[in-house]
Amino acid sequence: MINTRHKIEYNPENCVGCKLCYKACFVGVITWDAENKKPVFSYVEDCEHCCYCQIVCKKGCIKVCPDFDSQSFRQSFDVYNR
Ligand code: SF4
Ligand code: SF4
Repeated sequence: MINTRHKIEYNPENCVGCKLCYKACFVGVITWDAENKKPVFSYVEDCEHCCYCQIVCKKGCIKVCPDFDSQSFRQSFDVYNR
């Protein structure tokens, strides 16, 4: 597991269960609670910080809060330092 304090805030209050966030996540961070028709942010440590889930949610339920000091970000930027 990658060491990160990356957070995804989810407010279910206005969620209409449209599934767009679930479909938008290409790395499978979000799973789907079929019974309650709500997204579940099950694998936040795998998040690529693309913000697609936040952008597609027209109800403003999702806020991606990257941890810029995390190991995953350092690894990403290390590529440019080689
Ligand atoms: S995109 Fe927004 S409204 Fe639709 S299921 Fe996800 S959180 Fe709910
Ligand atoms: S920010 Fe991107 S990778 Fe992270 S949960 Fe949202 S869609 Fe998935």
